[in-house]
Amino acid sequence: MGVVVVGAGIAGVACAVELAAAGVPVRLVDRAGAVGGRMGGRVVAGRPVDLGAAYFTVRDPGFAQVVRRWEAAGLARPWTSELAVLGDGGPDRAPGPQRWAAPGGLAALVADLAAGLPVERGREVRRVGPGPVVDGERADAVVLAMPDPQALRLLEPGHPVATRLAGRGWQPAIAVAAGWAQRQWPELPAAFVNGHPVLTTIADDGDRRGDRAPVLVAHTTADVARAHAADPEGAVAPVLDALRELLGVRAAPEWTLAHHWPHASPEGTRDELFHLTPDGIGLAGDGWGSPRVETAWRSGHMLGKELAERVRRDRAAG
Ligand SMILES: Cc1cc2nc3c(=O)[nH]c(=O)nc-3n(C[C@H](O)[C@H](O)[C@H](O)COP(=O)(O)OP(=O)(O)OC[C@H]3O[C@@H](n4cnc5c(N)ncnc54)[C@H](O)[C@@H]3O)c2cc1C
Repeated sequence: MGVVVVGAGIAGVACAVELAAAGVPVRLVDRAGAVGGRMGGRVVAGRPVDLGAAYFTVRDPGFAQVVRRWEAAGLARPWTSELAVLGDGGPDRAPGPQRWAAPGGLAALVADLAAGLPVERGREVRRVGPGPVVDGERADAVVLAMPDPQALRLLEPGHPVATRLAGRGWQPAIAVAAGWAQRQWPELPAAFVNGHPVLTTIADDGDRRGDRAPVLVAHTTADVARAHAADPEGAVAPVLDALRELLGVRAAPEWTLAHHWPHASPEGTRDELFHLTPDGIGLAGDGWGSPRVETAWRSGHMLGKELAERVRRDRAAG
């Protein structure tokens, strides 16, 4: 039967990698047409633009190993350890950990990790019940590697794990990307925007990618994302106004696009890195730990290890 991993964001892929490495049959399914989840983006004029995570950080030694491999393959690059701070009390600079970026877009890193795994793209899973049973088919175990509200939609109401997931808030965001004929803003390379009604972060996409394309990506506050949930393009005008106010960008861009993330980040953190029920339903992702790329990888990786061990024990017991 094997394990079904639902969600091919970095958590689901990291989990499937561990299972496959332990010789456990695994199927990875995602409703989207590509892997990457919230590390996704879009190609504009032949060039990828990151619309989800702005960058990632690396602390865990296991994740550092993966990142070293990406770096050696030219897929990831150290970007910056200092961000600008705009808004309340700014401008200022915020030193911090090394931020990493990907010349080909962050989703390319997830695709690299998933290489060799059986991935079913464009398949939405609709129901996960005790057994576990995934859309009517028995599995040794199932992993839901996605934000809590998406996992809740799949679980039978009243399942103890559904009760555990309910009630936690997730914040939305809209990413607005815009491209100009030439750069017309101060060197950033990215900025936290504090106390602003429209924006939370701005990233110079050409700087992070290394090609210096005159492209900015800004993320809105949750309030703006809620107001424009049905029409994300409606967030473009207020975002351009905010870029004029914060960075002095006056010229109209040559192109813009907007993407709504309904569950961009969870409120608060959990101490548990993943959850695994006795009947083989696993939960992983950045809802476990803190809302970061690295945490999501670690959550999936650790759950994959635990599940592989459980399958091995069950087989040994006959
Ligand atoms: C705007 C924004 C900015 C961010 N900035 C940063 C940052 O700067 N640094 C950082 O470290 N992190 C950042 N993050 C967070 C980071 O992107 C996430 O922590 C990480 O990508 C989560 O990965 P995941 O695998 O847990 O979930 P996801 O990437 O959300 O993957 C879940 C997958 O499940 C799939 N799925 C859901 N339901 C179903 C279903 N029923 N059937 C099949 N498939 C399904 C989805 O299509 C998706 O691919 C940001 C996120 C957003 C949205």
